[in-house]
Amino acid sequence: MNKPILTIVVPCYNEEAVLNGTMLQLTKVMEHLIEESLVSKNSKLLFVDDGSKDQTWNMIESECEKNSFVTGLKLAGNVGHQNALIAGLETANQYSDCVISIDADLQDDINVIETFVEKYWEGIDIVYGVRDSRETDTFFKRNTALFFYRFMERIGIKLIPNHADFRLMSKRALDELLKYKETNLFLRGLVPLVGFTSAKVYYDRKERLAGESKYPLKKMLAFAFDGMTSFSVAPIRLVTFLGFLAVIVSALVGGYAIVQELLGHTESGWTSLVISIWFVGGLQLMGIGMIGEYIGKIYREVKRRPRYAIEVDRFTSMIKEELQE
Ligand code: UDP
Ligand code: MG
Repeated sequence: MNKPILTIVVPCYNEEAVLNGTMLQLTKVMEHLIEESLVSKNSKLLFVDDGSKDQTWNMIESECEKNSFVTGLKLAGNVGHQNALIAGLETANQYSDCVISIDADLQDDINVIETFVEKYWEGIDIVYGVRDSRETDTFFKRNTALFFYRFMERIGIKLIPNHADFRLMSKRALDELLKYKETNLFLRGLVPLVGFTSAKVYYDRKERLAGESKYPLKKMLAFAFDGMTSFSVAPIRLVTFLGFLAVIVSALVGGYAIVQELLGHTESGWTSLVISIWFVGGLQLMGIGMIGEYIGKIYREVKRRPRYAIEVDRFTSMIKEELQE
């Protein structure tokens, strides 16, 4: 087997606080991999600027001038982590044999990248990075995550627990992934659908190098909700089921009230009436909201909007030039 061209894709949104350190550390990883003859010397780091408002792009550009490993992709606006990642993957894929994605804050352990590549040499198409400990995450984040994975499994969505977007994909696996054209992207749900042979590599998750999480609670919840409704109609079925349950329960209660009436014990209960009105009303609102969620998704999908727009591509030009030499 020829030494593969590896591209490491790093989505960056307002990451000026960590970026220089990240570029330095990933460059070292690259140098090491080349030294060990694990990857081609044409391998690259691809930093995707997701419409940052700070110095992120300037920092990437100036590093491009000095560091032959560093390339950059500037998106025309902020499209979010998942879309920025797909932009990088799609761009990288044209000139790479395998691609690794990793977050800019280096919370994921870059020391296992070598293991990823070794697995690739063994013929494995997808290598998932899996967090071994979540000690550095808050108690809240750890438990909500655990609940999330359990729930997703229950409603029939196959996810790799404690795997985020730190993974290696071979060209043929990535080619397949890129055929999924959905606008509501949830990559960690899609990748297992692609198939091929896969492996897991465990590592400890660290704290963010610097800067703040771009996933505050509100975004985290939206992301989790997206994950559920993009892959399964189970939530909408749950609502239907609850509706049935409510109807059956109220029928039983109604029957009981009639029997009591016939026996002469007249119920003077308006409380039960009010409760049932609120109960059924709540169920209806829930159902409508749930249906609305799906309709909103359909609406976004049918428009077939592009997922991102590229403003500057310093990857394709650089690697093309090198490969021609
Ligand atoms: N990110 C992005 N676009 C966004 C938000 C985040 O490209 O709109 C990037 C961010 O720069 C980082 C990665 O996505 O590289 C994950 O974000 P973060 O580390 O803030 O999330 P957390 O690790 O807290 O879940
Ligand atoms: Mg992070």
